[in-house]
Amino acid sequence: MAEIMTVRGPIKPEELGVTDYHEHLYVEPPGWLHKGDPDFALNSVEKSGEELRRFAAAGGRTLCELTAVDFGRNVHKIKAVADLAPDVNVIMTAGYNRPGYMGRWVVAVAEADMVRDTVRDLTVGIDGTNVKAGIIKCGTEYNNFNESGQKLVRVAAAAYRETGRPVITHTTAGTMGYEQTGLLIEKGVDAHRITLSHMDRNLDFHEHLRVTKLGAYIGFDSFGKAKYGPETDRLALLRQLIDAGAGKRILIGNDLGRPSYWKAYGGGPGLDYLWTDIKARMLADGFTQAEWDMLSVDNPRRFFSGEV
Ligand SMILES: [Zn+2]
Repeated sequence: MAEIMTVRGPIKPEELGVTDYHEHLYVEPPGWLHKGDPDFALNSVEKSGEELRRFAAAGGRTLCELTAVDFGRNVHKIKAVADLAPDVNVIMTAGYNRPGYMGRWVVAVAEADMVRDTVRDLTVGIDGTNVKAGIIKCGTEYNNFNESGQKLVRVAAAAYRETGRPVITHTTAGTMGYEQTGLLIEKGVDAHRITLSHMDRNLDFHEHLRVTKLGAYIGFDSFGKAKYGPETDRLALLRQLIDAGAGKRILIGNDLGRPSYWKAYGGGPGLDYLWTDIKARMLADGFTQAEWDMLSVDNPRRFFSGEV
C-alpha cells in the first residue's frame, strides 16, 4: 500500500519529506500514571501547536504521533494541534502501547475485540470521527516478553494483515525488540514494515545489528536526553551501524512525550533540537549530507510506502 494515512487524509510517499518517526503532541495519561508522574500531561493545544510550528520551521514535514489509546490519545486535540501547523503531516496511531499502561484491561478484553477496535481506527476513524490512524502500535515491558505483551504484538500483527499499515512498536529501554520482531514475522508481518522504538536506550551494537538483519527498522529517539546516556555514545553507535551496512534500516525521531522536554512548556530540548542542533553536530562530526538525508527522508519514505 503506497498511500500513507494522515489526520487530513491519505498522502503520497514523496510528500513525507523530513519525518520524525516517534513523537507525542497531546497526551492525557491514565489517572494513576498522571498521579505518580505529573510530567506526562502534554495538555495544551496552543503550546503543542507552537512546538509543532518550531518543527516545521526547522524543516520538518511529517510527524508520527505515537500516543495509543492506553496512554491517553485524544483525536480531537491532536487534530486541533495539527491544524495549527498546516505544513506538517501528522500520522496518528492505532493499537496499544504496553501492558503496564493497560492494567487489567489487557487481560479483561478479548483479543478479537482489540483487533476489531484497532482495525476500526485504521479504516473507519478514531472515536467516532473520520480521522484515521496510519500506524499500528504494540509494546512490551522491560526484559519481559510475557503473555500480555505477546497479546498486544499478536493484535498488531492481525491488524497489519487486514490493513497493511506499518507497525511501530514500543520497547521498554530498548529490550525485547528481537523477540517482538520474531513474533510479528511469525504472525505474518513483513519485516520491512516493522520499526522498533527506543532502541537507542540500549546502545548495544549486537542487539541493533541482529534486529536489522531480520529486516526490521530500529528507531533512535533519545536525542537530548542526557539521563539516557550521552549524545556522543548515541552518535557513535549510529556511525557504527551505518558503517556495518545497517544505515538503511534506521529511523530518527525524538519521543518528547513530556512537557518538560518542550520549550513551549518551559523545558527543553524542544521539538526542533534534532533537526537543528543534532543535524549540525552530525555534519560537523563527519556524517555526510547524504547520510542525513537517508535517515531523515529516504528511510521513512521507504518504510511508510512499503518498499523493500
Ligand atoms: Zn513515545
